[in-house]
Amino acid sequence: MSADIAIRMQGVHKAFGDHVVIDHLDLNIEKGRFTALLGPSGCGKSTLLRLMAGLEDVDKGQIIMGGKDVTYALPAQRCLSMVFQSYALFPHLSVAENIVFGLSVRKVNKHERDRRLQDALRLTNLGGLEHRKPGELSGGQRQRVALARSIVSGHDLCLMDEPLSNLDAKLRHSVRHEIRALQQRLEMTVVYVTHDQTEALGMADHVVLLNAGRIAQQGPAQQLYEQPENTFAAGFIGSPP
Ligand code: ADP
Ligand code: MG
Repeated sequence: MSADIAIRMQGVHKAFGDHVVIDHLDLNIEKGRFTALLGPSGCGKSTLLRLMAGLEDVDKGQIIMGGKDVTYALPAQRCLSMVFQSYALFPHLSVAENIVFGLSVRKVNKHERDRRLQDALRLTNLGGLEHRKPGELSGGQRQRVALARSIVSGHDLCLMDEPLSNLDAKLRHSVRHEIRALQQRLEMTVVYVTHDQTEALGMADHVVLLNAGRIAQQGPAQQLYEQPENTFAAGFIGSPP
């Protein structure tokens, strides 16, 4: 298996009752690349991400990460961080406490926690806000706290599920660029779920277009845009969001 593959999914299948949501899917996520999982609402994007994270169990198939079979590994054993649409911040903790919360749980020592916190505050432009509570921040700042929390984890694999959808259009545009710049600077592997083709095509190196739990087409953004391989891809990519 290639060392350049961060996540390899083979024959991954997931149904809820008799509703097949992920249909015998094969997918490789390349290391250091920004991959978008794109598709209409209900096509299985979040489920696929949750399977990668170990928040759902596969019915069939195999998931390999960094060369190790993690199909039945717990989320905490998968060496990745997640960023959600809802930010998932603790309202009673300060920005700084939210950012290093996971490190405290993992018993990373205080010196190392502080070092990573300062790095993350700088990278996400949150310096000066570390003592505020999430309720005192704007939506864009809250999402940056969620990003900072993912940076301090030290994992170079980050899964993001529609991280911008709670932001207004103007903020969405700037945070989109911040996320992309961070990914490139830290050489992170990012898997980014979105239903918004502008986001996927504008941010990602590689786009995976999903339709009803299967891959309709994948490739560089430009290729999906210019050479749709089937009527689904042509219809989805051409349509207004
Ligand atoms: P997307 O993120 O692309 O909008 P999801 O992965 O959230 O799609 O959902 C895909 C389908 O699976 C939807 O029809 C959804 O209702 C269903 N689904 C997702 N999670 C569950 C669950 N825990 N139980 C039952 N059905 C689910
Ligand atoms: Mg979703």
